[in-house]
Amino acid sequence: MIDTDLICDFCSAPAPAWRYPARTFLAYCVANVAGESVGDWAACDACHKLIEAEDRKGLAQRSLDELILKHPEARSAAAALYEDLAGLHDQFFAHRIGTAVPINANAA
Ligand SMILES: [Zn+2]
Repeated sequence: MIDTDLICDFCSAPAPAWRYPARTFLAYCVANVAGESVGDWAACDACHKLIEAEDRKGLAQRSLDELILKHPEARSAAAALYEDLAGLHDQFFAHRIGTAVPINANAA
């Protein structure tokens, strides 16, 4: 799913720089957004660094912070959302199948 509207799958930042090959896995539901993780995950530079450092807490916190920025009404459910996001990221770590690949080889 590479297209011009690509966003970071972790924090929704635009124009993520990295792609993580991953197996498709079961549907998830975070913040009223239901979906299915199909194949690769996109990651921005900041999330890429957290993933490489295996800083799962930092990654979940960053995702939560960005989510609440966009959806301030979600703040009241922050603790539950953090658990949802951490769980989703656990699935990502369990299903990723290789190292990160730069997305925009022609952006340099
Ligand atoms: Zn990100």
